[in-house]
Amino acid sequence: MKNIAILGSTGSIGTQALDVIRAHPDKFRVEVLTANGNADLLIAQAIEFQPNAVVITDESKYIAVKEALASHPIKVFSGAQALCEVVQFEDVHLVLTALVGYAGLNPTIHAIRAKKHIALANKETLVVAGDLVTKLAEENGVHIIPVDSEHSAIFQCLAGEWHNPIEKIYLTASGGPFRGKDRAALAGVTRAQALKHPNWSMGAKITIDSASLMNKGLEVIEARWLFDLEPDQIDVIVHPQSVIHSIVQFTDGSMKAQMGLPDMKLPIQYALAYPQRIGSAFPRFSFLDYPNLSFEQADTVTFRNLALAYEALRQGGTMPCIINAANEVVVQAFLEERISFLGMSDVIEACMQKVTFMKSAGYEDYVNTDKETRIFARDLVQA
Ligand code: NAD
Ligand code: MG
Repeated sequence: MKNIAILGSTGSIGTQALDVIRAHPDKFRVEVLTANGNADLLIAQAIEFQPNAVVITDESKYIAVKEALASHPIKVFSGAQALCEVVQFEDVHLVLTALVGYAGLNPTIHAIRAKKHIALANKETLVVAGDLVTKLAEENGVHIIPVDSEHSAIFQCLAGEWHNPIEKIYLTASGGPFRGKDRAALAGVTRAQALKHPNWSMGAKITIDSASLMNKGLEVIEARWLFDLEPDQIDVIVHPQSVIHSIVQFTDGSMKAQMGLPDMKLPIQYALAYPQRIGSAFPRFSFLDYPNLSFEQADTVTFRNLALAYEALRQGGTMPCIINAANEVVVQAFLEERISFLGMSDVIEACMQKVTFMKSAGYEDYVNTDKETRIFARDLVQA
């Protein structure tokens, strides 16, 4: 029996993780559930799964959650700091980081220090502080098991090959809702258009990131840290059907790909059950439904965010932290219709040029860089 803490249990990944756990009550137990603001769903999940503790980070919702769970033996906490406490509970075996954005970094660091294995959906953690987090994981003997479908694919392809040198990897990208469009066509796209992803149903932030290809840029940086690769060893290939989830090419030129229907429950289940594979009732892939799998070059002229992310990775230091913070600000602004789709890359690029850059950084430096970038980016959005 594995006891699991889910950070961000009310989101897209969090609710799908609970679907997986619901289907395997003999293998997984929920120890901790957390949410930012969706108190009603958190309460319903807590009543169903009876965790040891829940956290509602929005403190204005604390009383409501506390009262609703008063007749249950469930501890209720509130505030961001509580996330750092609950991940350390003795009975937690695995922490699924399914919250969105920079907020995932600090609780993940606390979980690793407490020697908890991590099922990592929150890619922003590795984008912001990949060197620090991977070093800490190594020192504490902690596994970081990827949940992101591309990285889960690479991870699955590497099983039994851990010591064989990788020549390169190909991260596949669906291309998002605006694949094939040029900059003129993107100038006036709306929030509603950007939120319509062709293959995946996900939270709002990652859906916008997928439309702008920033998601793929963040994934390139995530892959650099998960698999210890140089930027030139990571390639992106657009594959609109999202059936091949990613590919590893070894030193002998042999390539391994992992494939399946686009359904996040599979990589979530793999990460929860790792190193075992367990049964599932998910629909199976049929070749006859997909007579053509196709591949295209990613368009980094139209989708500049992908080029900016590669540039940040090459510069290293705090640059990926800068693009992450700038991106979080502009995506929020785009969702509130305060910035245009193409305007997002302009703000990110300006932040890369103007925010204080440090070639090597510790935790406090990342915290300060994140703060400085947000202030600068917010000013630019308002201007
Ligand atoms: P979501 O917006 O659907 O859910 C986010 C969850 O985090 C919610 O439970 C919310 O209450 C909580 N949360 C939000 N802000 C918070 C904060 N400041 N502090 C604490 N909790 C907070 O997001 P999602 O689509 O499930 O994505 C979660 C993470 O997984 C992201 O990092 C995303 O990039 C990654 N991911 C998602 C998918 C997907 O299919 N959704 C695929 C790959 C990777
Ligand atoms: Mg992905």
